[in-house]
Amino acid sequence: MSRPKVVILGAGYGGLMTSKKLERLLKSGEADVTLINKHDYHYLTTQLHKIGAGTAPDHQISMNINELINPEKTTFKKGTVSSINFENQTVLLESGETIPYDYLLIALGFEVATYGIPGIKENAFEIRSYRSTKILYRHIEEQFLLYKKDRDPSRLTFVVAGGGFTGIEMLGELIDGLKVLSKKYEISYDDVKIVLVEAAQSLLPFFDKPAVEYATKFLEKHHIQLLTKTKLLNCTPDKIILEPNRELPTKTLIWSCGVQANSLLKNFGLPLERGKLPVDSYLRVTGKNNVFCIGDCSLFHKSETKFLPPTAQVALQQADACAKNIAALIRNESLKPFEYHHKGTVASLGNLAAVGKVGPVRITGLFAAFMKQVIEARYLLILGGPKLFFKQHFSSDRKQTKVSVNQ
Ligand code: FAD
Ligand code: NAD
Repeated sequence: MSRPKVVILGAGYGGLMTSKKLERLLKSGEADVTLINKHDYHYLTTQLHKIGAGTAPDHQISMNINELINPEKTTFKKGTVSSINFENQTVLLESGETIPYDYLLIALGFEVATYGIPGIKENAFEIRSYRSTKILYRHIEEQFLLYKKDRDPSRLTFVVAGGGFTGIEMLGELIDGLKVLSKKYEISYDDVKIVLVEAAQSLLPFFDKPAVEYATKFLEKHHIQLLTKTKLLNCTPDKIILEPNRELPTKTLIWSCGVQANSLLKNFGLPLERGKLPVDSYLRVTGKNNVFCIGDCSLFHKSETKFLPPTAQVALQQADACAKNIAALIRNESLKPFEYHHKGTVASLGNLAAVGKVGPVRITGLFAAFMKQVIEARYLLILGGPKLFFKQHFSSDRKQTKVSVNQ
């Protein structure tokens, strides 16, 4: 009898961690596990803003997938998924190749939501992937270079739209990163303008008041212009239009106004809710006994009207439960319902400050920044043990983990 085939789509937080857990759970020869991802590297989405602002080296954020998996237990395939045939139980890749499965996990992550606002797709920069943030950084650096020639102030006007967690973390990095670029290109930092555009009453509209006040004061202290209660309506390569009808010349709009599930889900012919795949308590796609979905693509109901948010914390906890349920299905054992335990949320403001809540305790400043580092370090330790942690942070052997932006 041939071995059951487990196919995992996406090597982000959810997919990669599920494959790592399966390496531990499945006995040798119990199943063939294939992990498919469009790039041969895994990136730390939770730190992408650092790549966008140039405040962290590439090798700290992106890692070669083949070095993270055990090749004796997991086969990695570089490929872009284009559709799934649930009847024949096959995955179709853009290359034309079809991959058969007995058990499937969909973990294809998120896209940036643009809400159909004109010019965003074409002209704004996204904090979505390693590649998109590399492109952003190259553009920012180019603006410094060109400013030296034409002194056009719109080149050094950097606008972040969306004062949620992503926008705030990006601003924190820009404070540090743009100072470095000013020095490098011998331009006064006084010529640099950083603006936040947020539609709600305040930034971090989902956080409690003291946390909002801390973040607001921090950003104002660093001369960031905070335009709250201001909706962005349009974006061209040279300016943005703000509500009601105000123009702001800029060549850099960083759009961080929320996310949605990977739009590829629409090709799968399955019912979607809020653009995501609704899953049962075992993380299986509704109506499909051998298809799981976790992370930002899945809609897990906490109650009839409440859902889990699209966070790495959720994706990682789901990965653990999903791997156990896949192993149980293979062994004909009963599945366990997934239970989410919220550990807290910390948003960084550069390297030396952050704001958040861990359990019931509100934390700010340097201690919060330290906690954020601990959370990030914990992920690397779970993924690859102390060896990976030290390699990412201290090793001089950085050759294998370097990634080309053209990949
Ligand atoms: P992803 O991590 O997005 O992985 C999806 C994978 O699928 C990627 O590797 C992608 O390349 C691959 N893929 C996509 N399409 C295809 C295709 N067609 N074929 C093959 N492969 C494909 N959450 C937190 O809990 N804490 C934080 O501090 C935090 N910080 C964040 C900071 C930023 C800047 C951002 C943008 C998000 C942050 N989040 C944070 C949210 C978190 O990153 C996401 O919820 C998490 O990445 C979701 O994991 P996932 O496995 O569902 O998808
Ligand atoms: P978000 O939905 O949390 O915030 C988006 C912000 O954009 C909101 O404040 C909204 O009012 C604003 N906005 C929307 N449309 C606008 C417009 N037209 N003009 C101006 N402002 C507008 O989205 P996000 O920050 O991209 O985060 C996405 C997900 O990733 C969330 O689930 C978040 O929790 C998670 N995340 C977590 C962390 C962390 O835990 N440190 C960091 C980043 C992201």
